[in-house]
Amino acid sequence: MSSTRALCILPALLACACAHPPTKPDIFLISLDTTRADAISAWGMAPAGRRDLHGQVITPNLDALASSGVRYAWAFAHAPSTLASHATVFTGLDPHQLAIPRNGFPLLPGRETLAERLKADGWATTAVLGSSSLARPMGVDRGFDAWDETFSVTRRHRHEATATEVTDRAIAALNARPAGEPVFLFAHYYDAHGPYHAPGPGHFGAPTDPATITRLTAACRADGCESVEPEMEQVRGAYLDEVAYVDSEVGRLLAQPRGPAGRIVVVFGDHGELLGEEAKRPFGHGADVDPAATHVPLIFVAPGLAPGIVQTAVGLQDLAPTLLALAGDTRPFGAGIDLAGIVEGPQIPMEATQPGANAPGWNNRANEHGMVQGDEMVIEAPWLDEPARYQHVDGSAAPPDDPRAQTLHQGLLAWLADTPPFRAVQMDAATREGLKALGYVDE
Ligand SMILES: [Zn+2]
Repeated sequence: MSSTRALCILPALLACACAHPPTKPDIFLISLDTTRADAISAWGMAPAGRRDLHGQVITPNLDALASSGVRYAWAFAHAPSTLASHATVFTGLDPHQLAIPRNGFPLLPGRETLAERLKADGWATTAVLGSSSLARPMGVDRGFDAWDETFSVTRRHRHEATATEVTDRAIAALNARPAGEPVFLFAHYYDAHGPYHAPGPGHFGAPTDPATITRLTAACRADGCESVEPEMEQVRGAYLDEVAYVDSEVGRLLAQPRGPAGRIVVVFGDHGELLGEEAKRPFGHGADVDPAATHVPLIFVAPGLAPGIVQTAVGLQDLAPTLLALAGDTRPFGAGIDLAGIVEGPQIPMEATQPGANAPGWNNRANEHGMVQGDEMVIEAPWLDEPARYQHVDGSAAPPDDPRAQTLHQGLLAWLADTPPFRAVQMDAATREGLKALGYVDE
């Protein structure tokens, strides 16, 4: 409980203390699971690859938020899966520093979390989850006073809450806090994760079921996704319907009254989603670090923060230090940096979380890896025995003899040379089955 609250319940004795306005704003950290940057209209791209929808507003609430703050046009997730990416956001550490190969491997002890820091700084900390991928045994709940993982939907062994439920519970948590106490709220919206079937009639596509995805996957692998393009467009539209649904629920959350010291809002996507860009793996995420799977939305809004757009690439590792600096805590956090005023961002390592273990080395040693800096990226996939690919962050080709590409590749190789040891984990049968249903367990 903050000293401000303690003073304010004794107004007759300490009125002069209460005359000072609260100085800590509320903080909302909003996670858009499985959300590609191009799905947010403010990014000005063809939504999820749908050129026919270019210029159409899909996400009015997030667009308005982006225009009132700083929008990072080229933000990248370091890992294309839920737990690893959120662990990076919560600790300011990259995948090797975290040693989380994929979902189901709990956050190791000794890593300070964002919630722990903000709690120590005087914020009440509360979280509302949309998926069991971040359930309490995964350890990312550290530092939260309240952690709501009430799930209403079970898909085989996967547990989820809808965006409406997440917003309802987040509002209830805000209303339940003591008056005047600043709150750090983490709200996790999972709906954009497959299967894509938003409530109500689809605006952009027909709801999809797993059987359709299985059939289209087979067709893409056999003849290329172009062979089933009309149906692929429907799937992309169904995905956008989910994103639009989440946008409406985020808008309802953001419509809640601000605290007396205002509000910091940070919105991010934990990873993207392939929607036909790769014929061998046309849907989902986990095995690729291509922009479809790693280019994510990132928006900061804070009292006094001038609106703007940052064009150089940034990574989610730096989200927490940037947020903390806006909240007045400029002490080092994790291995990240404060992105304020950044001109050319740092090298951003990325690592896929599938196809799986290859003991005795680091679990992900053979997986696809990448490095991003500025407007360039390099990707290599040892498990496919493919040579390194150089490209710009927008997907356009970059010449391999570009000195910047060579420098980036050297940076990637140096990062790969310093990997954690193989990590085995004991999972109970239910957890294993749940993760298998999500596609995160290999056998
Ligand atoms: Zn996710």
